[in-house]
Amino acid sequence: MPTTPPFRLNDGNTMPQLGYGVWRVSNEEAATSVVDAIKAGYRSIDTAAIYDNEEGVGKAIAASDVPRNELFITTKLWNDNRSFDGALTAFDQSLKRLRLDTVDLYLIHWPGVSGEGYVDAWRALVRLKEEGRVKSIGVSNFMPPHLQRIIDATGIVPVLNQIELHPRFQQKELRTFHAQHDIATESWGPLGQGSLVADEKLAAIGRKYGKTPAQVILRWHLDNAFIVIPKSVNPSRIRENIDVFDFALDADDMRIIEAMDDKDGRVGPDPAIFG
Ligand code: NAD
Repeated sequence: MPTTPPFRLNDGNTMPQLGYGVWRVSNEEAATSVVDAIKAGYRSIDTAAIYDNEEGVGKAIAASDVPRNELFITTKLWNDNRSFDGALTAFDQSLKRLRLDTVDLYLIHWPGVSGEGYVDAWRALVRLKEEGRVKSIGVSNFMPPHLQRIIDATGIVPVLNQIELHPRFQQKELRTFHAQHDIATESWGPLGQGSLVADEKLAAIGRKYGKTPAQVILRWHLDNAFIVIPKSVNPSRIRENIDVFDFALDADDMRIIEAMDDKDGRVGPDPAIFG
């Protein structure tokens, strides 16, 4: 069974570099697919209040024979609770649905276009970390001005920013800001939400190693030191997506994939106008 290397965060904690994402997975599906993922070797699960499947994820964690301290559970604060008190209340509700007393990582899901609320929500996450109810705190879909504002307001740097990132949308400017502040980059939509798995250039690279295009893309994330959380509810794809620790891409492969970057390659919402 593949084991995922640990990734060190700026607060001293570690998390698996590859995890299992459950967006667009129902509670019923999550209760079985998360069990399949844990059996396949995944130890990190990425959910969110808005995914409406924290109960299914919690059920799978409770049913798993892997001890809680070997699992790394992430959930996220949704936009309707982006305030200090809202975040504290929403966090309690997430914990209850997950049947947990701590989560390993809590993220603000979107900064929002109004500019209101996310700084106060971040103060609440800092409080939750101080209280030991969350091991690590981070954000998602933040752009440099959002990141700078929460750092200036609290002095606390998020451990990571979970952003849309895949070969067709590589976010180089934002990654430079992350590197300057020791913020890890976590890729959502790492397979372009499935849109990249039929790409012929990636298939050609995969043939050199006996790997699929999805595996090539995931290897590219790992080789770039991104944390990555692919999603599938298909048990054989769940296994395929973690079977990426027995090869590495060479410099030519990396150059070919780097050349796929496209400023219009986004498949999800733009944080400048969403949330
Ligand atoms: P993804 O890039 O992981 O693509 C998932 C889709 O790709 C699947 O539904 C399936 O159709 C296809 N796929 C998966 N494995 C495959 C394989 N081996 N071969 C062929 N096709 C395959 O997209 P995603 O689900 O959007 O992103 C992953 C996770 O990131 C989510 O589940 C969620 O946890 C997180 N996420 C976060 C945000 C955010 O705003 N923070 C937004 C979207 C997703």
